[in-house]
Amino acid sequence: MSAPVRTTCAYCGVGCGISATVTGERAVRIEGDPDHPANAGRLCSKGRHLGETVGLDGRLLHPMIGRKRTSWDRALDLVARRFRETIAQYGPGSVAFYISGQLLTEDYYVANKLMKGFIGSANIDTNSRLCMSSAVAGHMRAFGEDVVPASYDDIDAADLIVLVGSNTAWCHPIVYQRIMAARAARGAQLVVIDPRRTETAEEADIHLALRPGSDVALMNGALAWCRDNGALDSAFLEQHVSTPDGFWDALAEGNDLWSVARTCDVPAADLRRFYELLAVTPRTVTLFSQGVNQSLTGTDQVNAITNLHLATGRIGKPGAAPFSITGQPNAMGGREVGGLASTLAAHMDFAPDNRALVQRFWAAPTIAEKPGLKAVDLFRAVGEGRIKALWIMATNPAVSMPDASRVREALADCPFVVVSDVIADTDTSAFAHVRLPAAAWGEKDGTVTNSERTISRQRALFPLPGEAKPDWWIIKEVARRMGWKTAFAYDRPAEIWREHCRLSTYRNDGARLFALAGHGAGGNAAYDAMPPFRWGGTPFADGRFPTADGRARLVPVAQKPIAAPLRDWPMTLNTGRYRDQWHTMTRTGLAPKLARHRAEPLVEVHPQDADRLGLVDGGLARVSTPQGGSLYRVAIGDSQRPGELFVPIHWTDKTSSAGRTGLLPRPLADPISGQPGFKATPAAIAAV
Ligand code: SF4
Repeated sequence: MSAPVRTTCAYCGVGCGISATVTGERAVRIEGDPDHPANAGRLCSKGRHLGETVGLDGRLLHPMIGRKRTSWDRALDLVARRFRETIAQYGPGSVAFYISGQLLTEDYYVANKLMKGFIGSANIDTNSRLCMSSAVAGHMRAFGEDVVPASYDDIDAADLIVLVGSNTAWCHPIVYQRIMAARAARGAQLVVIDPRRTETAEEADIHLALRPGSDVALMNGALAWCRDNGALDSAFLEQHVSTPDGFWDALAEGNDLWSVARTCDVPAADLRRFYELLAVTPRTVTLFSQGVNQSLTGTDQVNAITNLHLATGRIGKPGAAPFSITGQPNAMGGREVGGLASTLAAHMDFAPDNRALVQRFWAAPTIAEKPGLKAVDLFRAVGEGRIKALWIMATNPAVSMPDASRVREALADCPFVVVSDVIADTDTSAFAHVRLPAAAWGEKDGTVTNSERTISRQRALFPLPGEAKPDWWIIKEVARRMGWKTAFAYDRPAEIWREHCRLSTYRNDGARLFALAGHGAGGNAAYDAMPPFRWGGTPFADGRFPTADGRARLVPVAQKPIAAPLRDWPMTLNTGRYRDQWHTMTRTGLAPKLARHRAEPLVEVHPQDADRLGLVDGGLARVSTPQGGSLYRVAIGDSQRPGELFVPIHWTDKTSSAGRTGLLPRPLADPISGQPGFKATPAAIAAV
């Protein structure tokens, strides 16, 4: 048995530290890392069962061209040649990368550098677009930069914890345990704002089961209440916040308690209890997740929350902050290197000065001029023939993108598709001309950044199996074959990390947040031994924000009209996670114990709807939308509002003929963030 290795969980953005002890050829004992700041030794069921998922069943172990095994040289030469030829014929905008929050920061950095600095396009987007891009856009509008102004310590210090659109008990279990501990230790009050009565909502002092899509009204009403009841922080507003003309006048329109209760379809008495509690509790943390982000008005919802915190001065102080809790282990690391179509690099946008700076730093032949295609638009462009070469890394868009049938048609028509993945046969890899075997969790080395911005190491536990290679290696080998040998002469992830640290501080005099000054020092040995790094302190404690004038912004946001139910699609379909599964189950599906919690995909229906439609508990029903349909097992219960359905996201063609939720949502996105709206799709249900 080898000595324990400190690494980080493969799943959610809580970013729990793991102590992994290799006990055999492909066997490992998993325990929580007692010294990791995110979890202090605790793990949820998914983390605890990681050891069951490290076998080699179903792995892609060799490069493949079509269905034939090939050598790395042949595969990489082909990828480089096809990308080079496509760019030469149709320009840099004709190629794209679609990457993943499962990638490590070093992988993200190399992919971003290749696309934006050497190919010269910003057509690199990530499945993080589906996860938290509305939070990114909201942060940029409010604070001038994408910064999460909170840490897990704020949960410990809060007197009121407001959870918006988050089933934290299932989706971020270790954060939830922290919330429960705060309740036990300090008597912190818990308010849950969620259309569903989830396991999290069951624990709440107040649960507001609002009408889907009415979050802006609820938060604007809270702000109006705080103003009318003397809970604004006038000094903070005066000194640190820019308030657009007419902001308060606009807020006076339709944001009284009764109007908001009607819009949100919640009891006015419950709403009043929440507002009264909020007004008198300075130490308030508002955590929000996919119920906010995955909405067609997600960015406005985020800013309704940041407005409330800025106007009441509940930011930059212990126990007082808006807090976006993210989905994937490295959603934040990708944001930090700029691995989204909407940012350039190192938290910079595409302003001319930034472009010149990054191009100079990279010694790049070109630099992307403007933001690229965000996920939904990217796959639309593939379908319309505008993207002619696409490289998908570590993600399964044929299942996870909205309107997945159209995504599949687009992939089938794309002249050249490359898929780098751990798994041999996924719904997406069926469309690949070239498949490249990537290193999995437990085989690769690098860093990830969690929801509170703690940077942790993922470390290799096992030798690379077959011919699998780390993603950064695969990308840099393609870059070198495309002609950029010097700029991609990396031999190990530590070198990429050091370059990322240098870029974050390059000629910015430490003015940008996330400047990783000093973190590149110490050479390879320091990287290998790097402990989890917490930024520490409280962002914005000095009241200065990373805008040109140092002031945060109140952003006027108004509740958009909520569409009436459609005749043929009268139900509202919500989607989400189960406690013990992750994404499309390519990993958690390997752990039999995890399947015990929910063995099959259920559609949750309110009893009134079940009666009306003749649905039987435990029977089968077909859920359909204008995009497609799929079968589910019916679960009748009043955790749903009447007229609303809930289905899980995990099942795919590869795992089941039922529960194929990706076929159902509309390919529509928030116009500011580009994040798809998965939470409120017009739908119908019928017994089969
Ligand atoms: Fe892993 Fe998230 Fe569970 Fe922590 S809470 S063990 S990071 S899945």
